[in-house]
Amino acid sequence: MKRRILSCMAAMAITTTGLSGPTASAQQGESEPQDLPVPGMKTLQIGPSPTKPTYVREQVAKSPAKSGRAARAVAGSYWKVYYQGFTPEVQAAFQRAVDIWSRKLTSNAPITVAAVWADLPDKVLAQAGPNELQVNFAGAEKRNTIYPASIANHLQRKQIDGTRPDIKVMLNKNYAPDFHFGADPAPADKVDFTTTVLHELGHGLGSAGFGTVSKGLGRVKTVIGGQSYLTPFDHFTTTGDGGFLTKHATNSVALGNHLQWIVKFDSPQVRAVNGGEPARLYSPRPFEPGSSYTHLDENTYPAGNPNSLMTPSLGRGETIRDPGELTMAMYDSMGW
Ligand SMILES: [Zn+2]
Repeated sequence: MKRRILSCMAAMAITTTGLSGPTASAQQGESEPQDLPVPGMKTLQIGPSPTKPTYVREQVAKSPAKSGRAARAVAGSYWKVYYQGFTPEVQAAFQRAVDIWSRKLTSNAPITVAAVWADLPDKVLAQAGPNELQVNFAGAEKRNTIYPASIANHLQRKQIDGTRPDIKVMLNKNYAPDFHFGADPAPADKVDFTTTVLHELGHGLGSAGFGTVSKGLGRVKTVIGGQSYLTPFDHFTTTGDGGFLTKHATNSVALGNHLQWIVKFDSPQVRAVNGGEPARLYSPRPFEPGSSYTHLDENTYPAGNPNSLMTPSLGRGETIRDPGELTMAMYDSMGW
């Protein structure tokens, strides 16, 4: 079937003209480079449609968490979206996704989003990413780790830079006929807009990493000025036999093979909700830039699966209104 690319810049590298690009800043250490490496564009593709429409409903928390981060914070988050060019119908469908995240994600700081109903290039349905990155700020859980501003603000318990939205999401208005904007599940021939936005915001919230393969050589760390940097996501990725990818030599064949074989996201939080196992990430051979590594595995979490939101493709008639326990556990691991 005809395939279209839904570009969801998982973080940071917004290249569209007419909008300011991401900025990066270091709160401490004057020697920190101001031009931080950024993970590349991630894509969400239109995948095969399920044999019949699927619907993953929003799950309501059974009971307040008794331990961990959730116990320390007030549940939920406050989001402010700055809409540009949206019709009321499209804006309502976008806001529906924001409202889901506001119920699901707890943040110590407001989360701000610039949402643009835009004329994007052909085949691009949407793109999103943080406007700002932070490294080695007060409250950072990991050194030399490039955080999306939304996580950094949460860890600092304040908005570090209130002058810019934390996340920018652009939807291609040229594809309006393909989208289903309603609150009800999408019919078999439509792409659910709210699911799309929910997915895109997920990349802006942290589903982004440096892992990539080029000419068979793999890397997870990005080196600049002699210093290696990771994203929060990169700290938790492992090989099929459980070793952290960060232990492998940068630009090595061995790491390239691992990135195209089995990659998992391993943390105590993930294991706690996944039967003691790490989460399986999408890691086909050959490596698919934009899809591999920063998405959950499509085959392991197919349409209708409670954890299918952050897989690399979305079928028509596939409606997902919950991030899923695995994604929430991954975010918890990364600092949320
Ligand atoms: Zn994606």
